[in-house]
Amino acid sequence: MSALISTAPPSLAAVFAQHWPAYLAAHGTRIPPQHRHAARAIMQCRTPELGSVFYRCDCGKVEARPVSCGHRACNGCGQHKSMEWEARQKARLLPVPYHMVTFTIPAEFRALFRANQELCYDLLFRESAAALSTFAADPQHLGGDIGMTGVLQTWTRDLRYHPHIHYLVPGGALTDKGWIRPKDPDILVPAKPLAVHMRNRMRAALKEADFKLYLSIPSKAWKKPWNCDLRNVGSGAKAMEYVARYVQKTALDAARIIAISEQSVSYKWTHRESGEARTTSVKGMEFLRLFLQHVLPRGFRRVRHYGYLSAAAKERYERLRSLLKAGAIVLILPEKTAVCCSACGCAMTFLHALRHHRARPPPAAEPTP
Ligand SMILES: [Zn+2]
Ligand SMILES: [Zn+2]
Repeated sequence: MSALISTAPPSLAAVFAQHWPAYLAAHGTRIPPQHRHAARAIMQCRTPELGSVFYRCDCGKVEARPVSCGHRACNGCGQHKSMEWEARQKARLLPVPYHMVTFTIPAEFRALFRANQELCYDLLFRESAAALSTFAADPQHLGGDIGMTGVLQTWTRDLRYHPHIHYLVPGGALTDKGWIRPKDPDILVPAKPLAVHMRNRMRAALKEADFKLYLSIPSKAWKKPWNCDLRNVGSGAKAMEYVARYVQKTALDAARIIAISEQSVSYKWTHRESGEARTTSVKGMEFLRLFLQHVLPRGFRRVRHYGYLSAAAKERYERLRSLLKAGAIVLILPEKTAVCCSACGCAMTFLHALRHHRARPPPAAEPTP
């Protein structure tokens, strides 16, 4: 058995400290810049390298805390942002049943997506949102406009590559006659024809966007319909909590890394079907490959709002709220965890920050209507 590198709790930063040099030596210039950037940010997070933030206590004590990296791949950062996002979205929920619509890419397309993330994720968002709103607008189904909040997730619980988008959709549509509910409360639009339509849209979109890439996919891969899962999720609050976990978060919570050695990394996860707790151990380099494949292209917007939920449709959304008698939005934002004084335990107040340099520019804002 190999010796653990330290008695400190295993963390993502410790994994990178142990295994990044070998990863860098093995893959060199083939490592995409966003992966280098994420690695640097994670290794520098809360170290004196990034600088210090100073706080003052009423008891007179002044204390410094190391600056956090703020990178969205860092599992030590982003918790508060994620809670804030959830609170904002929950405040905007409409008093109707919600539906969760999930589009998943077939296995035959994973290599294409991984090698061309920016283009493919964009097409996936664009075409799935268009497929869903086209179906909703069809008088055979709802015959009106829908609103959607989509969140891109690329991982399975054990870190494999599995790109999919979850859309949270208020169950109904806005028409000239008012709000129309689906005939069957469990079926927003029919899943099977939607899956076929989605595949056809993606095929046309990829062909137009990059003909060479389009030709790299064997034609038999296009024969299968794409997987669309639609389900009624009730008030939407629980489903919003579920998607909120992915908004500012990375593929792996800090607590899930359980051991790091010179050779390997062990992490725990919960099996989706059985609910069983499982542990996976992989070589350190393999862990970094698994983890980094989920780092999104820089500035990529993982959350997108469409239809009357988009930032441009504020007035329509307000009109819909009054039509559905939703009342005024009551927003209660979560409080930030106080920084406490080491001498007396009281909450301290911010004094000033001394940043040496940022690990990355401020993140591209996800428009939150
Ligand atoms: Zn960080
Ligand atoms: Zn104090």
